[in-house]
Amino acid sequence: MLVDNHGRTINYLRLAVTDRCNLRCFYCMPESGIKYVNRKDLLSFEEMERLLRIFSASGVSKLRITGGEPFVRKGIMEFLEKASLIKGIEEINVTTNGTFTAEKVWQLESLGIRSVNLSLDSLDKNRFFDITRRNEFDNVMKTFDRLLESSIKVKINMVVMEGRNIEDILPMVELTRNNKVDVRFIEEMPFNGTEGQGNATLWPSSKILAHISEKYELEKSIDPPNSTSQNYQPFGHKGSIGIIAAYTRTFCGSCNRIRLTPQGLLRTCLYSNVGVNFRDLLRSGASDEEIGNQLALTVGKRAKDGFKAEKLRDNTVSESMATIGG
Ligand code: SAM
Ligand code: SF4
Repeated sequence: MLVDNHGRTINYLRLAVTDRCNLRCFYCMPESGIKYVNRKDLLSFEEMERLLRIFSASGVSKLRITGGEPFVRKGIMEFLEKASLIKGIEEINVTTNGTFTAEKVWQLESLGIRSVNLSLDSLDKNRFFDITRRNEFDNVMKTFDRLLESSIKVKINMVVMEGRNIEDILPMVELTRNNKVDVRFIEEMPFNGTEGQGNATLWPSSKILAHISEKYELEKSIDPPNSTSQNYQPFGHKGSIGIIAAYTRTFCGSCNRIRLTPQGLLRTCLYSNVGVNFRDLLRSGASDEEIGNQLALTVGKRAKDGFKAEKLRDNTVSESMATIGG
């Protein structure tokens, strides 16, 4: 079992398989001037697979594949197949922008992928374009429809942003009326790949909840253990909603997750910019046992919460979320 220095059991790894992306969501990446990691510095799929085996032997049982956009990396489906066979990995979930995913839904289903989080910040084609800077709305909606037809659990991630998509909040709740989908409203965070801090404070989770409650009767659901979202059931709806206080950080006390970046940096908190490079460790010839020991050591020096981690940084948050995985 992997336990951190605050007594929290760590069983969840978020693996960012690439920092590349075909969209340019303005809250995540600048339009241009992005410095992608050199290909040779990215973890190979073989390296990821080895790390997964070691991490699962140490207690990681839940995996999320994220990025950048996971489906832009060649070989991702073969990797998912291998990952699904690793002993100890009990569930695999995927976060995707949905632009290339529609054709892959049946294969994802047959691999036993538990859930797909589809990032969709607007139900309006023009607003979608303004946010993502790309004309891919129809492809994302096709993915959404295919997912609904499959047995994969579907969640929508919507980052709530002043002046961008506030008019989409209520239509997103409406989407849960007849569809078995969980819509998650996420506070904007300052991980946008620029020095600008964005509008993170304008729509805190409390305001999102108040806004939705004006129109919908909500029943509080029992949140699963380690949930980052506060979950609600709109009365009479097939689906549900969740609100994620990603910026106000109210869930750190039960955080069970670690992150591996595309270049192999293990980050024990989203807001921390320090980490041990497991790619270098692998490439230096370290044994599985040495890597497992380093994992335990790193997890044993975790910041108590996102505010402490942010304080320990030597700079302000400015990296793109695509380099961390969300
Ligand atoms: N490309 C995939 C996607 O968009 O779903 C996976 C990677 S993306 C970095 C993972 C999640 O992080 C997405 O749901 C995205 O909306 C979220 N995200 C990115 N930047 C964010 C920010 N500044 N604040 C809050 N959420 C953010
Ligand atoms: Fe790409 Fe996802 Fe970032 Fe949008 S949020 S730019 S889709 S990595």
